[in-house]
Amino acid sequence: MSRRAAETGAINLGQGFPDYPIDARLTELVAQAMGAGHNQYAPMPGVPSLLEQIARKLQRVYGVSVDPGAEITVTLGATEALYSAIQALAGPGDEALVFDPAYDSYDPAVRLAGARCVHLPLAPPLFRPDWDQVRAAINERTRLVIINSPQNPACSCLGAGDLDSLAGLLRGSDCVVLSDEVYEHMVFDGSWHASVLSHPELRARSVAVYSFGKTLHATGLRIGYAVAPPGLTAELRKVHQFNTFTIATCLQHAIAGYLGERPDCGADLPGFFQARRDRLATLLEGSGLRPLRSAGSCFQLVDYSAVDTRSDVELAGALIDEAGVATIPLSVFYRQPPPMTLLRLCFAKRDDTLAEGARRLRAWAHGRRTIA
Ligand code: PMP
Repeated sequence: MSRRAAETGAINLGQGFPDYPIDARLTELVAQAMGAGHNQYAPMPGVPSLLEQIARKLQRVYGVSVDPGAEITVTLGATEALYSAIQALAGPGDEALVFDPAYDSYDPAVRLAGARCVHLPLAPPLFRPDWDQVRAAINERTRLVIINSPQNPACSCLGAGDLDSLAGLLRGSDCVVLSDEVYEHMVFDGSWHASVLSHPELRARSVAVYSFGKTLHATGLRIGYAVAPPGLTAELRKVHQFNTFTIATCLQHAIAGYLGERPDCGADLPGFFQARRDRLATLLEGSGLRPLRSAGSCFQLVDYSAVDTRSDVELAGALIDEAGVATIPLSVFYRQPPPMTLLRLCFAKRDDTLAEGARRLRAWAHGRRTIA
């Protein structure tokens, strides 16, 4: 969709990346780190000063004590953390539970490990897990349960009660929870992020995954990290070692410096993204594209059933040409999609991008209604 958007000049509300500048201070720190000669291999688990800063952040935000040397691994984005964890922990004959609509990297990584995914569908509009269904899906082959909160693309969040339910279901088993928490700071309406790290029982059996691409508005940095107890971390690092080995040294130093100067970085993100979510909803009012509640992430689902009868895949393809806007259909994130008429829009965009994208969508929707 991004390629087609670039080719056609469409406004890209599809792929999740910001189109506004990153903090100039981070740019300076990257230049300084290169200038200071941090250009050779970093230690395999990560640059110590960055591991230290991450541990401090986890203590401050989740009240958890994490050993930076034994429990944190800096990875090539969250994608590598997920991939290395899956390769390390799942193998032939194993099953991984995933909740659809699922972020698209889980299933291929599980298959590459020789294991298989069991897809549990979440139903719109709330996209809430049914813990009885999860209980029924767990068996002796279940090795991983992959959760993602705030959830991309469903924009729903798990609460503390959900984590209790999951912990209860896994008690007595050797299942590992792979918890994708890249949108940890994008939780709205006064809610807070329920991390597996703050849940002592789950913390002991979880790999939690984070991304500086999301937190620092810089998806191209490709720096993330995995947090897990020492035994799980040791396994993950065996894959990391021969997968990416080490991550850009100067960028790690720069981020460590940035976190040192701005230890509360992330605290302003809920307000920042909530304002964008609300702006987009206001801009779409009266268009016939109905926003579902987005409780977290940088995405907004809209129901187009009032203005179009095509499938979401067909419509997203057509909208690039008909409206000049790139969007993402929701059903592609399901193994077996329930009937739905939902498109995902990204609101991590400049005001003018949101305004122009919404203007085009309104004009398109108005045209559809006129035809009807
Ligand atoms: N998980 C989810 C749910 C995501 O949305 C993304 C990025 N779109 C990732 C993981 C990957 O993060 P990164 O860009 O740091 O590899």
